[in-house]
Amino acid sequence: MTYLILRVDADMKDLKRDIVLSVENLHTSFQVGRRTIEVVKGVSFEVHRGKTLAIVGESGCGKSVTIHSVMKLLPPQGRITAGKVTYYGKNGRVLPLSEYPPYSKEMRAVRGREIGIIFQDPMASLNPVYTIGDQIIENLRQHERIGKKEALERAVAMLQRLGIPDAARRVHDYPHQFSGGMKQRAMIAIAMICNPQILIADEPTTALDVTIQAQIMELMQELQDTGGTSIILITHNMGLVAEMAHYIAVMYLGRVVEYGTAEQVFEDARHPYTAGLLKSVPVLGMKKDRMYTIRGTTPSVDEVKEGCEFTSRCDYVMESCRKGVIPEYLVDEGHMVRCNLVAEGIRP
Ligand code: SF4
Repeated sequence: MTYLILRVDADMKDLKRDIVLSVENLHTSFQVGRRTIEVVKGVSFEVHRGKTLAIVGESGCGKSVTIHSVMKLLPPQGRITAGKVTYYGKNGRVLPLSEYPPYSKEMRAVRGREIGIIFQDPMASLNPVYTIGDQIIENLRQHERIGKKEALERAVAMLQRLGIPDAARRVHDYPHQFSGGMKQRAMIAIAMICNPQILIADEPTTALDVTIQAQIMELMQELQDTGGTSIILITHNMGLVAEMAHYIAVMYLGRVVEYGTAEQVFEDARHPYTAGLLKSVPVLGMKKDRMYTIRGTTPSVDEVKEGCEFTSRCDYVMESCRKGVIPEYLVDEGHMVRCNLVAEGIRP
């Protein structure tokens, strides 16, 4: 049986014109005392122009480390040990990001200008001693030759576009004068002010209440629709994924275990972990004594030495699951699953 995946073949070349970022076989390790712990294990994905890729998984599955590796924002104890990251920039420029050191001219030109990031916690990410306007302008003036007056006008216009009332006055406020939702909008303004090709949103609504969550997601959608921005949405919230994603990468313990279009993953989930995540989503009006949960807890990242990382929580474990590295299987064009059930023709 030839189930083994070959993800980039000649027929996919046309599709590749659409790709703005590709990550191939990325490995990242952390040094903890004398131990080296691999937290990202051969992750691959692609980001398409004007589309949203959702990277989904529980806390600790390696979603944020993957993105920090791509952007070379790892802490000193983290190290990329293998992989290739390519950014297809404005005007067709190809930048092999994996070749540049974190503080190189090329990397600095991409970060903030071509790829913007909204970090998880706006309270911790904004500098309390600078005004909101100063923080937006700083990013702009780092990347563009522009005077302070013009930069301020652009900052005000961006805040207005993001729905901040009385933006010309509020641009001079400090972060503590902004509400939670306004702070998150300010973070989006900093990320969007240079009109990046890609916007990375790392759990952008975790710290916000549901009404603000909805507003922020609507806003990001609008920015995508009007500016053609590609979005990488990092989240554990399947509801958000259903609303926003065109492509989905499901991560578990450092690996992408399922990858495909939103339709492929939602309609035809083939990995037991993806199937479990989908079953765990509460449905309005559904009467059940207990919510579905995936049994057990996630093992620590260095606990599973061999075989499938999901073995301890899977209802379908087979002998073959306990050996080696589980291969990637292609179940449909662009739909990859890392699970031996595919070879057995079993659906979870
Ligand atoms: Fe379960 Fe085996 Fe598939 Fe892993 S490879 S998810 S243990 S069936």
